[in-house]
This record gives sequence, structure tokens and C-alpha cells, in this order.
Amino acid sequence: MLDKNYKEQLEKWDKSCLWHPFTQMQDYVRETPLIIEEGSGVYLKDVNGKEYIDGISSMWCNLHGHCKKELNDAIKRQIDKVAHTTLLGPSNIPAIELAGKLVEIVPKGLQKVFYSDNGSTANEVAIKMAFQYWQHKGFKDKTEFVALQYGYHGDTIGTMSVGGIELFHGAFRPLYFKTHFAPSPYCYRCSLGKQPKNCSLSCLDGLEKILKETSGHIAAMIMEPLIQGAGGIIVHPAGYLSGVQALCKKYNVLLILDEVLTGFGRTGKMFACLHEDITPDIMALSKGINGGYMPLAATLATEEIYNTFLGEYSELKTFFHGHTYTGNPLGCAAALASLDLFGKERILENLEPKINHLQTKLKAFESLKHVGDIRQCGLIAAIELVRDKTTKEPYPWEERAGIKVCIEARKQGLLIRPLGHIIVIMPPLIIKADELDKLLNIIYKSIQIVTNEK
Ligand SMILES: *Cc1c(COP(=O)(O)O)cnc(C)c1O
Repeated sequence: MLDKNYKEQLEKWDKSCLWHPFTQMQDYVRETPLIIEEGSGVYLKDVNGKEYIDGISSMWCNLHGHCKKELNDAIKRQIDKVAHTTLLGPSNIPAIELAGKLVEIVPKGLQKVFYSDNGSTANEVAIKMAFQYWQHKGFKDKTEFVALQYGYHGDTIGTMSVGGIELFHGAFRPLYFKTHFAPSPYCYRCSLGKQPKNCSLSCLDGLEKILKETSGHIAAMIMEPLIQGAGGIIVHPAGYLSGVQALCKKYNVLLILDEVLTGFGRTGKMFACLHEDITPDIMALSKGINGGYMPLAATLATEEIYNTFLGEYSELKTFFHGHTYTGNPLGCAAALASLDLFGKERILENLEPKINHLQTKLKAFESLKHVGDIRQCGLIAAIELVRDKTTKEPYPWEERAGIKVCIEARKQGLLIRPLGHIIVIMPPLIIKADELDKLLNIIYKSIQIVTNEK
């Protein structure tokens, strides 16, 4: 454990020098900061020695738990060879191997791997590829995009342009390129007032209307497949993704799937689009790519897209994009070790009983007075708190109901982060059944306490 004076110094610097992301610092500096010192398995330990279950997989990216020997060793082995060399020109061994492995496991048809560092850049790359693809094909007017309401693709200007979360994206609107937003298939709050049982996916009509009117100007549709994460863990009805792909084909628009969150097992399959047997034109991967160890991302494209970028140098068809740490050998070595673990530890096979277990245990929350909706997709779940269950009236956001539940959970040894009044459950894939029970019990009790229900 750390020396008391040193801990105090850390707290002081944390408040005086560090600007935390997505954090109202005025509130932050009033509280005692949680400073993590180490982790093991699903547990994180703070500088005071208190342990927490990592219920958000360290922002949705950890798969195999913390301090996983195989991942640590892979990075140690690589760092003794070389830590970083550029892909602008030369190549490196882990980056090559990983590209080969990724092409083997992604949906058939995605053939080319373009590396970057994070989910935002993976999508930024996808957007630029889609745009330039049409330019090279001679469709000069296809410069706009279609995205989903409540969609989230990152925090760079390009990805915010296709972002549909008013709270995050509203302030920067003058900086954006043109994007058309289709209704989100958010069944609990269906904008068409329909029931999922007999709606025949009529939300697709909204998308078709946009495409019918504007497809001559649309380069691509970008969306998160099966589940919209940051927009509120919105789980799409079965068939929606296939419906979108059919419309994209019909109207000659590329389909970009943002699998930054859903990739690498979260939904129960390696990639979410495999649930509906879809191959997108472009796919963005990041969060789980190396088990949540280091910044790494990949954008995969079809041969058809890649080929339009080929030509004499003087034709200027080169894809002029790249980041300093693109294809970082340490990140790629960790990714290779992570993929190895999927085989060795039968991660996906072992996930299935856990997903069922989670589903069964979530039923207990239905009886809580302020739980309006419970959603699950694979090992991702969300509990939507409402002020009034009958009218679905949400808690006013100023009331910070979600944040209060998470503060209570933290006291009881669980780290989670809400999306407004939605409690998000996203543990590492290796979580055991008893740990999952502990996590759910803490959330249950915390909701009871915060909503005054005994
Ligand atoms: C987190 C996330 C991103 C952004 O990734 P960063 O690494 O935070 O830039 C993009 N798309 C989805 C679906 C995400 O969940």
C-alpha cells in the first residue's frame, strides 16, 4: 500500500492538474478521487487497498480480466525486441500477423486491414474510405452520410458528425458535415408507438425514405450493429441489421459497421454482424481488440473498396491517412495473445452459459418499482430507471438517478458508470457466475437504496 503523504500528493495533483474525460470537474474536485493502483481478474484495487469488481470492463474494453499473464508476457516479449516502429513505409511482425488473423476471423469478404489507435480513428478512417471510394468511382456527389439517432462513433469531429446523441454532439453542430439521421429502433420508446411483436420493423421505413430521397448524395450508412452502446445500450430487434443491409444494397450506399464495442465476443459471437450473417463493406474495430490492454484499432475493408485506391502515384488515389502509432507492435502483440486466449480458454463457448445466467438473474429486477426496461445482448445489459413505470416517464436528468446508483455501488465494491438514468452492465468476458451474482446483487441493492424502495 502507498505511503500516506504520497497518496495525498496524488490526490492533490489529480485535482489540480488532471482534466478527466466526460467529467464535470467542478463536481469531481469536491469528491475524494478513486485512484486505481492495480488489478487482477475482474477486480481492481485502489490506493487504499479497497477492491472493486470492474463492472464496466474499464470502459467496455477489457475481456480477459486485469493483469492476465498471457497478455503481460506477450507485451514483455515484444518490448524486448522493439516497442514501436512506423507502418508508414516499413512493416512489423506483430502487425502483419494480426492482419492475417483478423482477416481469418471477420465476416468473409473483408480483406484489408488498416490500423489506427482508437475507436474514433477507426471510424474516421472508415468515413474517409467510404467518401473517397465514391470519388474514385466517379460518383462525385456522394459526399453525405446516413446514421442512426442515438448513434455513437467517437469524439473526433468526423465521427461526431455522424453521432446522434444530442447531449454529446449538440454543442459542436456548426463543425459537422452533412448527415441524415434515421430513427433508432429503440423498442422501449418506439418513436412510432409500436410494439416489437407486430411492428414488422416499420422503423426501417424511415431509413428507406431518407435513402430514396437522397441516395445520390449518400456515401455510406454508418451504424453500431445489434446494440447502440453510448446512446443507451439500445438493443435492436432481430432482423433490423439485415433490413438495413438490404436497403443499403438497394440504394447503392456503402454499409459501415462500427463494431468498436460489439467486436470480440461481447454479444456472444466474435462479431455482432455474425448474428445476422452480414458482411459490411467496412468494419471498425477497437475496444476489445487486445483485451483492453493498449490503444489499437483496425478498419477492415473489402477488396472492392481497396481496389479503387490503386493506381499510378500521379493519379493521387493513395489513401492519405495514417497515425504515428499505427500498427504499434506492442498493441498488436497483445491482440495476437488475446486471440490465442479465445481458442485456448474457449472464451466464446464459455460465454453462452454466462449469458443465460445473466438473463435469468436480470428477471429479479422486473419487480423493482423504478425499473422501466431491462435490455440484454450477450454479456451486455442495461437497466433503464424511470420515475413512473406505467407512463415510462424518465427521471429528470438533473436528478442524476443513474449516477447516484453508481456511487452507491462503488461504496459496496462495484465500479459501474451509467448513461444518464440507464445502468450499464458490461463486465469482462471471463467473469465467473458467482462474481456476476455479486455484481447484480450490488446493483439491485443500490437501486433499492437510491429509489427508496425497501
Ligand atoms: C467507444 C466507442 C467508440 C469510440 O472509441 P474510442 O476508442 O473511445 O475513440 C466508437 N464507437 C463505438 C460503438 C464505441 O462504443
